[in-house]
Amino acid sequence: SVPAALTSAISAGTRRGLLVKGGAALEKLGSSRLVALDKTGTLTAGRPRVTDIAAFGAGRAEVLRLAAATESGSSHPLARAVLAAAAEEGLTLPTAQDAQAQAGRAVTATVEGRTLSVGSPRHAAEQAQAAGQTLPAEVQAQIAAFEAQGRTAVVLQDGAVCLGVLALRDEPRPDARATLARLRALGVRPLMLTGDNARTAQAIADDLGLAAGDVRAELLPADKLRLITGLRDSHEGRAGVAMVGDGINDAPALAQADVGIAMGGGTDVALEAADAALLRGRLAGVAELIELSRAAMVNIR
Ligand code: ADP
Ligand code: MG
Repeated sequence: SVPAALTSAISAGTRRGLLVKGGAALEKLGSSRLVALDKTGTLTAGRPRVTDIAAFGAGRAEVLRLAAATESGSSHPLARAVLAAAAEEGLTLPTAQDAQAQAGRAVTATVEGRTLSVGSPRHAAEQAQAAGQTLPAEVQAQIAAFEAQGRTAVVLQDGAVCLGVLALRDEPRPDARATLARLRALGVRPLMLTGDNARTAQAIADDLGLAAGDVRAELLPADKLRLITGLRDSHEGRAGVAMVGDGINDAPALAQADVGIAMGGGTDVALEAADAALLRGRLAGVAELIELSRAAMVNIR
């Protein structure tokens, strides 16, 4: 049976919108020394906005129109941002057929008879390579410039040919920097995990006060899972590894962590895989739950 102190700590959490599925999860969270946090939608608000469009093979409006049509089959936050930008400019979108999402990489669809994709620079480079080409130097330079500013660059391609690069900016959550400092004060090391590229990740990490050693970028969903397994096996992770995430791509890692915490407002899949949930998108709830857990355990011992 669950000790009364843990039960009342769970109730106290619930009143603050911090849901925990059981006493064992709360106890483990209190002893954890590592907390891995997804970037997009967890450390950041998950509401990216298109800030720039660099057109290469087509005009600027055409790049946005085709990118938005391709993204219309995806529910990814980046897709929603591209669609919102197209709507703001009053563009009429052609229909997309056979849309296929590759988690952590890209979305591909048939638009006006062409096979278009919008995806990560890595995906774009691989597509070019598969056709025996490389991304033009001017495209690569544009991507690097956007990423150095903490923006996520996605590439619109027609087959292997780059038509444009869109830059998106997703602001850190207002309580992210303070929460990371509070975790450190509790003796817990925060780590940022992201599928985004290393340059963008480090620029955001700098804003949040995270050192380069605490950032893991360019992770596919399976990489996040492996990373959590490795952390649990490490000396530092033996007392417990918590993971906070919001997306479908985080669900396997959330399930693999000792304590998976779903960010409220995220996907249902993430909620189901998790042991706890932060409603109202309050990231500080991670630190509050650790404090509640430790206070309860002091009462028990
Ligand atoms: P994160 O781990 O930061 O939440 P994801 O794993 O969901 O990010 O995505 C990683 C990268 O894959 C994105 O930064 C983007 O470059 C690319 N990507 C994934 N889905 C899409 C999409 N629908 N449109 C454009 N790019 C995408
Ligand atoms: Mg995410």
